[in-house]
Amino acid sequence: MTDLLIIGGGAAGLYCSSLLPEAAVIERGESCGRKLLLTGGGRCNYTHASSVPELLEHYHGSLPFIRKVLYSHTPEDIINRFRKLGIKEKDEDGKIFPETESSHDILSALLKHNPKIILGKVVDVERRGDYFQIKTEDSEYSARKILIATGGNAYPQTGSDGLGYHIARKLGHSIKPQHPALAAIALTPSLGESEGVSTYITLKKGRKCVSGMAVITRKGISGPAAENFSHLLNGKEEIEISFSDADMKAIRRDQGSMLVKNALPLPVRLSYALIGELADRKAANLSKKEENTITECLSRHKFMAAPIASSAMSTAGGVSTDEINPATMESRIVPGLYFAGDIIDVDADCGGYSLTWAFATAAIAAKSMKQ
Ligand SMILES: Cc1cc2nc3c(=O)[nH]c(=O)nc-3n(C[C@H](O)[C@H](O)[C@H](O)COP(=O)(O)OP(=O)(O)OC[C@H]3O[C@@H](n4cnc5c(N)ncnc54)[C@H](O)[C@@H]3O)c2cc1C
Repeated sequence: MTDLLIIGGGAAGLYCSSLLPEAAVIERGESCGRKLLLTGGGRCNYTHASSVPELLEHYHGSLPFIRKVLYSHTPEDIINRFRKLGIKEKDEDGKIFPETESSHDILSALLKHNPKIILGKVVDVERRGDYFQIKTEDSEYSARKILIATGGNAYPQTGSDGLGYHIARKLGHSIKPQHPALAAIALTPSLGESEGVSTYITLKKGRKCVSGMAVITRKGISGPAAENFSHLLNGKEEIEISFSDADMKAIRRDQGSMLVKNALPLPVRLSYALIGELADRKAANLSKKEENTITECLSRHKFMAAPIASSAMSTAGGVSTDEINPATMESRIVPGLYFAGDIIDVDADCGGYSLTWAFATAAIAAKSMKQ
């Protein structure tokens, strides 16, 4: 019998174990923190230096729940925790990285206290009286309190394949439908002929809109604007993209002798992809109708859009926040059961917010499990 058991040795599980050295960690992979090593392109953007009200604008889910979590363990607490573990930070416009720019250093810091790590894939958890029986593929363990920190189902090659949802559901929890978040987006029609072009765009679905930089890919778009918008898509849906709010009337009047492609504040390849041969016309010679067509194509271009699941870095949906106490991260249904990280029905924009969530929920769980 183990007293405290953490299922999942990823960002949340390891942060929890660093604060709760008496707990054992069960990890299904050959090693812990495989996704953590990939974060921030290997540099690990581990939090975002903002006030909580600013942070809140970057999270999606139950706002009261998220607020309570983020006030309990703030980015400052995360930075201080890593300082204690020997990591100095580097601030890039609020995005916090280790000074060494190495996610390996973050992982080593979390493993510094030498946690007890059991390698094994948890396949079932049962509540028996006042303890849990945890089955792996080839062993069984019992524990008085457990934390499920098995991640969502993004990047399953790093171990998070959604098995945690089944375990939570079996224990009585409601699981909100999952869909990809922080993903690239496939567009129909694609803008493949301008592949590689980087540009500022605004994506709109109904009244929701997201602006930022995007990179045109062969299939659609990637980059921060696409990633931050992807959680809004339920499968394939019609969206509008604004590439430019250029005033065509003013261009026709003031730059009439120029070709449209040279007058527009857009990369030429993108102008061709958006307005075709109208790009080669002299601005002064455009008819009123053609002028309107260009405005429409630049500022309200309609596409069918779908997130590219294989590129998703996070998961929207998961264990319902209605059934977790945000002050303790303990289940409101099963005493002694705790949750942290991506498995919870909260997702965030890119910029260090997802790891902030993993660490904050883990810290709250650690404190409460200790009692
Ligand atoms: C390429 C990439 C880059 C990213 N960059 C950033 C970034 O720079 N900043 C940021 O804030 N976020 C970033 N993220 C998101 C961030 O990595 C996740 O939000 C975070 O790792 C979630 O932590 P977690 O502990 O909940 O899940 P995970 O880190 O996925 O860990 C879950 C762990 O549980 C284990 N596990 C799963 N099922 C079982 C089981 N049945 N039995 C035993 N163990 C199991 C898995 O093997 C895994 O080790 C990035 C994600 C990706 C994919």
